[in-house]
Amino acid sequence: MLRMDTIQGQPKAVEQLLAQSEAQRVHHAQLFFGPEGVGKFTTARAFARLLLCHAPEHDLTGRPSACGGCNSCRVFRVDTPTKDLPPESGHPDLHVVNKELAAFHEDKKVRDRKQTTIPVDIVRDALIKPAFMAPQLNHGKVFILDEAHLLRQEGQNALLKVLEEPPTTGGGTTIILITPREDALLPTIRSRCQRTAFVPLPDDVVDRHLNEHAAHLGPQERRWLTAFAAGSLGRARLALDHDLAEWARVVLPGFDALAQGRPEGGLGPAMEARIKAFAEGWVKKHKQASKEAANKNAAGLMFRLVTTHARQQLASAAADCDPQDPDAAEAVLRPWTCLIDHVNTAEGRLHSNVHLGTLCDGLVAAAAGALRP
Ligand SMILES: [Zn+2]
Repeated sequence: MLRMDTIQGQPKAVEQLLAQSEAQRVHHAQLFFGPEGVGKFTTARAFARLLLCHAPEHDLTGRPSACGGCNSCRVFRVDTPTKDLPPESGHPDLHVVNKELAAFHEDKKVRDRKQTTIPVDIVRDALIKPAFMAPQLNHGKVFILDEAHLLRQEGQNALLKVLEEPPTTGGGTTIILITPREDALLPTIRSRCQRTAFVPLPDDVVDRHLNEHAAHLGPQERRWLTAFAAGSLGRARLALDHDLAEWARVVLPGFDALAQGRPEGGLGPAMEARIKAFAEGWVKKHKQASKEAANKNAAGLMFRLVTTHARQQLASAAADCDPQDPDAAEAVLRPWTCLIDHVNTAEGRLHSNVHLGTLCDGLVAAAAGALRP
């Protein structure tokens, strides 16, 4: 059920939103920010369902809750919508605005462009215009602007105007901006919004999810996946869907070999091949996705894989250290902290469009230097 009280791992955010609803002081502009894959979009939909409900009730703990039986609740799609359908195909007064919407735009130029940003045309046609129209169920409208940081200057300026002078048609309008990168939004946009912070989910929430959806995993693989997800269910799902456990099986022993003074056995090309295959598969599945962005995202996942492993090695090395002998501890821990630094450097170079093969080989060479016993 898509209810506020079923949102897991975000008690503070949920509490803040329910408090607004309870006091009947829901701000017209909301900003949900925090890491990717921790439930911002799901919470936005659950909040929208509550706001659009014609007869909100109180749950057992006395908090406001959508009734589940009114006209609005009945047409609300409870399952998560797919990005292959126009996002409005659900509740007539819930408008989801995202970069994928460009694929359904009437202008071919907008349709055909690579979806790396949210075009200003989408903001105008899917947000501003309908925001000033009367709601169809006569009980307000909610707009969810996903990945709001993908708005360029022009789009942000257009959005700012609606936030400054919100529409007052039938029951009010709530605009929820969602982003993992709050800093990419104009300060004037941020200051107009009621901000709600989302945090990484506790490991047990990720673990429970894996229990339900990936029962076939062994305990070791599950531990690995939980560490890799680092509090993001989105990342856990991505790792499951794309079998990143295979990456771990092939790539990570190479780094361990380096730490034991053995040859890494073609580690750079193995990393590059997996990054490229991931990006190619992604672009094939998401027709308007940008290949360059897919490569960067895939490389980012690969780097995260390596840092997750380095952190785990660091933790187990630290557990074995003699606290009375700081020099020995430093010698054991230093290689893995150096590796993490090298991965961070490689990640920074991703944005300077360096060749992927060069980047992977460079990282392996640096790792060889750092980990050499
Ligand atoms: Zn209802």
